[in-house]
Amino acid sequence: MQSTSNKSTDISEFGEFGLIARLTEGFRISNTETKKGIGDDAAVISPRNRQMVVTTDLLLEGVHFNLMYTPLKHLGYKAVVVNLSDVYAMNAEPRQVTVSIGVSEKFKVEHLESLYEGIKLACEHYGVDLVGGDTSASYTGMVISVTAIGRAAREELVYRNGASEHDVICVSGDLGGAYMGLQILKRENKLFQENAGFQPDLARYEYIVGRQLKPEARRDIIQLLKEKRIRPTSMIDVSDGLSSDLLHLCHNSDTGCRIYQDKIPIDQETASAAEEMQIEPLVTALNGGEDYELLFTVSTKDMDKLTGVSQIRPIGFMTRKTEGRRMVTNAGAEVDLQAQGWNAFGKINGKG
Ligand code: ADP
Ligand code: MG
Repeated sequence: MQSTSNKSTDISEFGEFGLIARLTEGFRISNTETKKGIGDDAAVISPRNRQMVVTTDLLLEGVHFNLMYTPLKHLGYKAVVVNLSDVYAMNAEPRQVTVSIGVSEKFKVEHLESLYEGIKLACEHYGVDLVGGDTSASYTGMVISVTAIGRAAREELVYRNGASEHDVICVSGDLGGAYMGLQILKRENKLFQENAGFQPDLARYEYIVGRQLKPEARRDIIQLLKEKRIRPTSMIDVSDGLSSDLLHLCHNSDTGCRIYQDKIPIDQETASAAEEMQIEPLVTALNGGEDYELLFTVSTKDMDKLTGVSQIRPIGFMTRKTEGRRMVTNAGAEVDLQAQGWNAFGKINGKG
């Protein structure tokens, strides 16, 4: 386990309250509607005339993360970012988070300090206040649960169910990288376990390993859409893979869809790592997950506002439901999209 300090202090030396004080001392409240943060029975937020959005994620050691190759600082950063991504996917602005942790005896104060360094970085980077949480002992490794609170004007909110026939399906960034980064980390970790003195060489895979360990939420895309005065008709963040998440939009909007294989954005590093490991690059984009890109639909009349915007790619369009939910392959065949995303219960794709 990697912490950013060489010291090793037992949590029992601090006690629960001392530990909470220690972990949260560097955090400052920066948003004016946060009336009360850490230190009372509950936080107080004054949302004025905005709608509030609330989202939670639970991360379990051994299910969602492996501390053999996940530095705790990165884990703290990612735990916050994945929640902020859900807030942006509502076209809302994240403003507060709470962080709850369960820790077993193997963790030292310095490990938790590293975790909170990452949490703090994310809070500062995205301008959100840490306003509370809970702390408990755990028997089986680490548990982290983050709740994010965001705000939006009512007319700004974008749901999964707003798409109509003909709307253009768009995706930000590129897909499959986080999944391939995970495969590389697992491979190198296995070699490291099996061979004394083995030095993992991750330099060649810097981009995709970064996609896995230090994802960013696409605040920039939300801002860009606002500047261009485009309100997506539906939106979701890509956490389970393009296929599964697009099917959510179709299901909730009661539409079908056509996407085109040759339009799906896959980075060169993702493609070459996939080929090296004998995985079809397309599969990493369709079924990989954890990319935290935004997948959304735009009315055709707004499409000209997106010309020259390289971070956003049109990949297809919504159809009537009766036309099915399909991908058109480079050979011109139509194949049904299938939800094979990350499933914590089924161990599909050997993830985790
Ligand atoms: P309670 O007994 O009401 O649950 P706690 O003693 O657990 O209160 O928490 C005291 C304060 O510290 C509260 O404001 C709580 O939200 C905050 N807090 C507790 N644990 C954490 C944590 N891991 N991270 C951030 N804030 C925390
Ligand atoms: Mg408590």
